[in-house]
Amino acid sequence: RASSELKRERTVVKALGFEVGGKKVAVIAGPCSVESEEQIVSIARKLKELGATALRGGAFKPRTSPYSFQGHKEKGLQMLAAARAETGLAIVTEVMAPEHVPMVAEYADVLQIGARNMQNYQLLQAVGDSGKPTLLKRGMSATIDEFLLAAEYILDRGNPNVILCERGIRTYEEHTRFTLPLATVPYLNDKSHLPVVVDPSHGTGKAKLVAPMSKASVAAGADGLIIEVHEDPEHAASDGAQTITPAAFGQLMAQCRRIAEAV
Ligand code: PEP
Ligand code: MN
Repeated sequence: RASSELKRERTVVKALGFEVGGKKVAVIAGPCSVESEEQIVSIARKLKELGATALRGGAFKPRTSPYSFQGHKEKGLQMLAAARAETGLAIVTEVMAPEHVPMVAEYADVLQIGARNMQNYQLLQAVGDSGKPTLLKRGMSATIDEFLLAAEYILDRGNPNVILCERGIRTYEEHTRFTLPLATVPYLNDKSHLPVVVDPSHGTGKAKLVAPMSKASVAAGADGLIIEVHEDPEHAASDGAQTITPAAFGQLMAQCRRIAEAV
């Protein structure tokens, strides 16, 4: 079960040298979308040097508008594989459909289930059957209980490698893209044995807010962060407004390290 009623040991999820739920704060960083092989290999090199522990990048993109860039799909997965070959960074990428799970699992080290698919039960089961480490994002209108039950769909298929991700919820508030409730972190740490990661990029929608909310997440006890980084955020294919530069990411990493030591 996702809850820790049974007082079982905390889950540590491991994939290709990447670990979430252990002593160190895991940092998954990269662009919202994989745009080209040059882009993803180049940013992966920089992120690795700056201390990222895994690379994110979407090949299958769940876009609000059908007219927006939908991702390079399998070609995007191949570009991610090239970045892994170059850097050794584990790859975290979204899978949107149950029938795509075997294909995405071939290239990825960690499967991401997007907020919009948190309650796609067939997808949860397919990812459960794959046995692959999975980053499950909280649905933007899901309660914490619904979030934990979604995680149980994966666990119930015999896949214990689930990472919970708080990525912000819909509220009446409009100053940020979503509202990022950081009380989720200590609450889930008490309620569940699963590791908890925070996404301050989607959680706020604003690049300026990413660093302070990352630091607050680490202070609150998050096991990891997932952060959108691009060399030229203004020209990113998606989510540029909430994307930080490698330079800003480097500064943030140094600050998070100090906070992690203090908590
Ligand atoms: C993403 O990680 O780029 C993404 C689409 O996230 P979410 O599912 O949280 O909106
Ligand atoms: Mn995004």
